[in-house]
Amino acid sequence: MNYPPRLRLANLPTPLLPLRRLSAELGGPTIWLKRDDLTGSAISGNKSRKLEFSLAEALEQGCDTVLTVGGVQSNHCRATALLCAQLGLRCHLLLFGPEAPPDGNLLLDRLAGARIDFYPADTYTEMKVPILEEWKERYRQQGARPFLIPSGASDAIGLWGYISAAKELAGDFQRLDIEPSHILFATGSGGTHGGLALGKELFGLDAGIEGVIVDEDARYFDAKIHADMRDWAGRYGQALNTDRIGLNLVEGYVGEGYAIASEEVFSLIRKLARTEGVVLDPVYTGKAFLALVDGIRDGRFGDSTDIVFIHTGGIFGLFPQRGQLFGRP
Ligand SMILES: *Cc1c(COP(=O)(O)O)cnc(C)c1O
Repeated sequence: MNYPPRLRLANLPTPLLPLRRLSAELGGPTIWLKRDDLTGSAISGNKSRKLEFSLAEALEQGCDTVLTVGGVQSNHCRATALLCAQLGLRCHLLLFGPEAPPDGNLLLDRLAGARIDFYPADTYTEMKVPILEEWKERYRQQGARPFLIPSGASDAIGLWGYISAAKELAGDFQRLDIEPSHILFATGSGGTHGGLALGKELFGLDAGIEGVIVDEDARYFDAKIHADMRDWAGRYGQALNTDRIGLNLVEGYVGEGYAIASEEVFSLIRKLARTEGVVLDPVYTGKAFLALVDGIRDGRFGDSTDIVFIHTGGIFGLFPQRGQLFGRP
């Protein structure tokens, strides 16, 4: 595989560890946790894998200013802000949602010295791209060299992060002598899912790749991820017919909406912290892990002996939701 330019920004490989007590309690397959929450400390989670490629491209193009977009508690924006500081790049975040006191990810964005502008949350879908483009043009006119990273770093470039993670997982499985039947994780902008789906094709992974959507719906992600994979094949001259790749998108776990978690999710977050010392978040991993636990309870994984959950990070998103963590008032 010919990889494009890459910066070594994430602590890799991440551990793949069994959740012995929880697996025994549920009575199903052994749950293996791929600890992508350990790609770093403040710069942690799945976005670091993608940003190794996005930011390498920014430097390759001689850019000095990185523009990106997300929710107020975006993990992607926080990782980008800190990595830009590390690389000496200017960072400008466009955050959709009400301006809030510095807490969780937003606190770290501020600490990293990113410039931040807030926009109304309900304009996110239609306005994020035009506003990004508008800022890009403004920077250009000022003589700066802007580089634009889409939400979640989910585009043709960012896909490489989880293509290479698929290779890493294939090595983990070989070393541990396991053949997991399923790999589950949260899908929020689709780059993790698209990268793993491509990696499965490229490296012959046998496991089913299942993204639990935490926003939008399956139709939206099927189109979005296929578009990104097509761009990837075109941009990097790959012969793979990506349209033929089927995507397993698990619905039913968005709940009341993006970043709004039910008491069932908070209860599972408490449970995992107390059973295994692992901290999930209410926006992504808590909802996706609930899908995995439900799947085991419903016998959906049949007679599988091993399944994998990718812990994609997100711990800082827990802090601003402290009010709900120990039961609703
Ligand atoms: C962004 C994010 C996801 C979703 O990954 P995508 O590649 O955007 O689908 C999952 N978990 C956490 C903690 C994230 O920050």
